[in-house]
Amino acid sequence: MIIVMAKHATADDINAVTDRLKADGFQVHLSQGVERTIIGVIGERTEEVVRLGVMQAVEQVVPVRRPYKLVSRDFHPEDTVVKVGKAEFGANRVVVIAGPCAVESRDQVMQAALAISDMGLSVLRGGAYKPRTSPYSFQGMGVQGLQILAEAREKFGLMVVTEAVDHVSLGNVAEWADIVQIGARNMQNFELLKAAGQTGKPVLLKRGLSATIDEWLMAAEYIAAHGNPNIILCERGIRTYESKTRNTLDLSAIPVVKQLSHLPIVVDPSHSTGQWNWVAPMARAAVAAGADGLIIEAHPNPQEALSDGPQSLNLPHLAELVTSLSTVAQAVGRSV
Ligand code: PEP
Ligand code: MN
Repeated sequence: MIIVMAKHATADDINAVTDRLKADGFQVHLSQGVERTIIGVIGERTEEVVRLGVMQAVEQVVPVRRPYKLVSRDFHPEDTVVKVGKAEFGANRVVVIAGPCAVESRDQVMQAALAISDMGLSVLRGGAYKPRTSPYSFQGMGVQGLQILAEAREKFGLMVVTEAVDHVSLGNVAEWADIVQIGARNMQNFELLKAAGQTGKPVLLKRGLSATIDEWLMAAEYIAAHGNPNIILCERGIRTYESKTRNTLDLSAIPVVKQLSHLPIVVDPSHSTGQWNWVAPMARAAVAAGADGLIIEAHPNPQEALSDGPQSLNLPHLAELVTSLSTVAQAVGRSV
């Protein structure tokens, strides 16, 4: 249920409602909009909430029929902007995150970070913990990789996003990075989602390989319900019968998510296509379709990459792509 407070509601009116709800054992989440406050109420006993419709300055009590509440637009009609350093996900400027699939060495990360900061980008990606399909593939450098990323952050003033794959890596990622990435394979690892909600760091939540949009938003709801409203959704392609591309990039998820949710959404054209020369066209298409950002794999030397080389842009190609994005962004009233 959500309780929509009247425009003229005072802090005392709002407190009276939330105090009553808490005393009755409901979980309460506030959404303070420019115009009005909306109170999200989590609990089974809807009849009791409906009765609060008579309280002072309550405009409406509305049942939320969707399975997710806190991440739905009903609860928070305005777009959420997730601020991470200079980057603002969900604002006018499209945020381009770039960097290698995996942290492989200090040299590799520094070369990528230098190029990325020269391009005017502000967020560096790189996996220190790699969820690989084969147990014999490179599994990542762990804490040492996180330290390299943190060094690049200090040196180039970049924000860092990197993946956590379990509770132990989550603790380390939350300590060293600016954004915690939950990967496609862990989208429905509910215990990990709960723990990610409690870190206090923004979370980039990738769509599961076979997840519907509702399942993805329910996963985001786990994070929000555990205290973290700073969630960035990431469409990274889904499994379909098509095998020419690594996954099928579901660009229609962008307008659908925008309608259902207030959360920002970024697109990963690298894992969705699986091939570097398909990355730029899909990146441009994502911006045209309204994506709030992109996350792109780029490597100083893709042919030497320990993971996802075939889909990684080299640094000059990344620079070309970033330049070309501004025309597309402008065409849809945004900037890069
Ligand atoms: C990644 O971004 O490095 C990654 C493993 O992505 P996904 O979880 O989308 O496969
Ligand atoms: Mn990768």
